[in-house]
Amino acid sequence: MDIEAWIRIGAFALIFAAMAAWEVAAPRRKLGVGRKPRWASNLGILLVDVLTVRVLVPTAAVGAALFAAGRGWGLLHLAGLRLSVAAIIGFLVLDLVIYAQHVVFHKVPLLWRLHRMHHADLDIDVTTGVRFHPFEILISMLIKIATVLAFGIPVVAVLLFEVVLNATSMFNHANVRMPAALDRVLRWLVVTPDMHRVHHSVLRRETDSNFGFNLPWWDRLFRTYRALPEAGHERMTIGLPIFRDRRELRIDRLLTQPFRDPRDDSN
Ligand SMILES: [Zn+2]
Ligand SMILES: [Zn+2]
Repeated sequence: MDIEAWIRIGAFALIFAAMAAWEVAAPRRKLGVGRKPRWASNLGILLVDVLTVRVLVPTAAVGAALFAAGRGWGLLHLAGLRLSVAAIIGFLVLDLVIYAQHVVFHKVPLLWRLHRMHHADLDIDVTTGVRFHPFEILISMLIKIATVLAFGIPVVAVLLFEVVLNATSMFNHANVRMPAALDRVLRWLVVTPDMHRVHHSVLRRETDSNFGFNLPWWDRLFRTYRALPEAGHERMTIGLPIFRDRRELRIDRLLTQPFRDPRDDSN
């Protein structure tokens, strides 16, 4: 196995284990349905996502970055910037694009059907951070590839961005408690669990806020930032008004959620 795969798997395993341990040691909320009916499905979806991308888009974003570098493609190459500067700008561009993509997935009904599976989790913890429909992951990969080619984002920035995004997603979905003062400082640097949890509220106005997964600045800049859930972190309801049946936590149900009309699901 190549070094890139080891970096990805190593970082994933390390952050996952750290967050899972933190959740046991200092949980933020009492889980409603708990881990048992959710973890196998959420981690199973991650496996489906990884395999889907590997089969359908094997070159992935890093492959696109190698291709662009070899041919001198993209705005950052044309600008003739130093690698370090191009890498920082490339990282920021990717993060902004993922933020914008997330907003679009909330606004366009067809895309919301794919993305709402992420929101249908009845609890939010470290495994929610990897729970995305494979079609959303595929579209996201194509958008990333287009961005990498258009800007000529350096390979190192693409790999770093993907590893960091995976890590911050597990961190900001984790059901972990930290001192309020630490959260206040940290949320100027990275999206914290208390910040992203607002996004998983059952109330639509709260669902449509805090779209950032990594850097917290875009939500402040584009006025989609919300500091707190109205009901408070302990009492807020997680999930959607639809798909509240526990059967909807099964992996086969997760995969078919985009294609089902939730009005048929109220039994
Ligand atoms: Zn969302
Ligand atoms: Zn989320």
